[in-house]
Amino acid sequence: MKQMIFAANWKMNHSPSDASAFMREFLAHFGKHQDRTVIFFPPALTFGAVVNALKDRPDIQLGVQNIYWEDRGAFTGENSASIARSSGAKYVLVGHSERRHVFGETEEETGKKVAAATRAGLTPIVCVGETLAQREAGETEGVVLRQLRAALANVSSADAANVLVAYEPVWAIGTGKTATPADATTVHRAIGAELRKRLDSGSSAVPILYGGSVNRGNAAELLAAPEVDGLLVGGASLDAGGWASIVLT
Ligand code: PEP
Repeated sequence: MKQMIFAANWKMNHSPSDASAFMREFLAHFGKHQDRTVIFFPPALTFGAVVNALKDRPDIQLGVQNIYWEDRGAFTGENSASIARSSGAKYVLVGHSERRHVFGETEEETGKKVAAATRAGLTPIVCVGETLAQREAGETEGVVLRQLRAALANVSSADAANVLVAYEPVWAIGTGKTATPADATTVHRAIGAELRKRLDSGSSAVPILYGGSVNRGNAAELLAAPEVDGLLVGGASLDAGGWASIVLT
């Protein structure tokens, strides 16, 4: 049995009090499970409320949605990897399509962020995915593997073995359109093959999550797809009962 990973990206949703209410409901549905990993990515200012709500549930993990690549200094508005780590984060999303397409984050910057996360002991979840135009032009694999190589450009093979990857086709994020399980498997296989070239031969496989309009209706078939090690979920993670049912798939 694979250890499935369920990551909730709340994006810019849920205030501290919303998050506390969410956790009361979610924890009532979700007891401790050894066989799956659950990770929440709240907005930065909601992070402390989630840490507090989960103080008796060390089995549930926390991550931040973004970091800056410098360790400290005059970077108003930013948070470093070490601030995130010391606040209780274990993971960080890097290269999410909204960072790339709304905020103009470049592939080079994703490489700096992965390196900064690694230095601070945070596990990066490297998000990769093609746009609809790229898919229609037959460029999916080329784009995704280029993004992956750029994200891992500044870390050693040993550190690259400690990342997670999320395949999130841009055309599927928040649109209600989902890759078929077969499409997801094809891209996950290509990512897995690229990682095997990049990692030392003794390294264990890097988990590869799927994300893009996952909901309670399609979670089971995506999780059952070969090479899918978990889900990264935006919209459908905002409702406590709905998210609990996905996590309990
Ligand atoms: C995401 O933000 O990573 C995501 C997959 O969003 P959604 O589930 O809403 O498509």
